[in-house]
Amino acid sequence: MWFFSEEERQLQEVVRDFAKNELLPRAEHHDEEETFNLEAFKKMGELGLLGITADPEYGGSGLGATAATIVMEELGKVCASSTLSYLAHAILCINNIDKNASPEQKAKYLPKLISGEWVGCMGMSEPDYGSDAIGIQTRAKKEGDHYLINGSKMWITNAQYADIAYVYTRTGDEKKDLSTFILEKENGHFQFGKPIHKMGMRASPTGELIFDNAKVPASQLVGEEGDSVSHMMKNLDIERITISGISLGIARACVEQSVRYAGERKQFGKEIGSFQLIQKMLAEMSTETEMMSHFLYSVCKEYDNGTQGPAVAARVKLALPKMTTKIALDAIQLHGGYGYSREFPLERFMRDNKLNEIGAGTNEVMILIIAKDLLRESRR
Ligand SMILES: Cc1cc2nc3c(=O)[nH]c(=O)nc-3n(C[C@H](O)[C@H](O)[C@H](O)COP(=O)(O)OP(=O)(O)OC[C@H]3O[C@@H](n4cnc5c(N)ncnc54)[C@H](O)[C@@H]3O)c2cc1C
Repeated sequence: MWFFSEEERQLQEVVRDFAKNELLPRAEHHDEEETFNLEAFKKMGELGLLGITADPEYGGSGLGATAATIVMEELGKVCASSTLSYLAHAILCINNIDKNASPEQKAKYLPKLISGEWVGCMGMSEPDYGSDAIGIQTRAKKEGDHYLINGSKMWITNAQYADIAYVYTRTGDEKKDLSTFILEKENGHFQFGKPIHKMGMRASPTGELIFDNAKVPASQLVGEEGDSVSHMMKNLDIERITISGISLGIARACVEQSVRYAGERKQFGKEIGSFQLIQKMLAEMSTETEMMSHFLYSVCKEYDNGTQGPAVAARVKLALPKMTTKIALDAIQLHGGYGYSREFPLERFMRDNKLNEIGAGTNEVMILIIAKDLLRESRR
């Protein structure tokens, strides 16, 4: 992107090499076997990628949404599911602790999460509360110097590997009485429920977290009791922007693979790239990808400058995953039977990208946020 800084360009190069050397050779295997590439995850810690947005005082890189999105795009182009796990750790867990926790909590958790010694996750969604995140029912009840937590969390990325969980709970009867805790597996604050098997993002572990009268010291509370709605919403913005980077990476991979194939595959004695219907597909796929890239990184810069609100993050999150699903389907079409087979990674790209239309808020929820913002504007 023409407006990337020198530092951002260097980051892009480093992550591109890392993805090629560490993720690409094992991406198909981990998708097939539904296993997590823990080795590559640990290496991301050594490279300094895990604390991309965190305060350097605790070992982070102190960078913003632009840098984090560059990482998502480059990793996502090669192995979207490893990237989803990276996002859950770096943005949902570390970035939340970095932005909302006390200095003591940061000192205790960030260095080990940033180095990759500990794996983190974030628990918001529940079996009966997904889009209605403010309605969650996992309860934390104060009893003297500790809380008793009961309930469960569903669809939690990294659940089975997590040492630390950043978890939203209900602490009062008003709809907005939500409070956050940093929970430690080794002290029995949460149990792993069961793994969830999925159509895509199969190399990213997903599962349930269970809280059965979990006794948690009051010192694990983040901020004040009942003040979590605002920081939940704030972190959703950066989550929606950065997850869209994964879709951009997938779209780029689809375009590159399709251009290559159009020059190799022959039918009727000619390369299929010489047929105008194939050319139309390639031209549209690449135009849409460039459009997405400009939109996404321009929003990243606005986010980093503090000049952007939730409706803009929602627009990015609505546009990119949806367009990328179309691009991935076109790429499959362009490859004919080979596109539908596992010979090429296109069917994996399509399966993986579909998650981005659901996780971090569905397309329909993005439409609600955008429409609410538009109609509020029109009433001014
Ligand atoms: C692979 C994967 C990883 C995930 N990782 C995490 C994680 O790490 N942490 C976490 O907390 N959560 C995680 N999630 C959960 C994810 O954020 C939710 O799946 C998502 O928010 C949707 O919630 P739901 O699945 O309960 O769907 P529902 O909310 O039940 O939605 C069902 C359908 O109804 C539609 N709908 C709902 N409300 C409205 C409305 N008001 N108007 C119109 N349509 C509506 C939805 O758009 C959808 O089409 C993950 C999910 C998946 C699949």
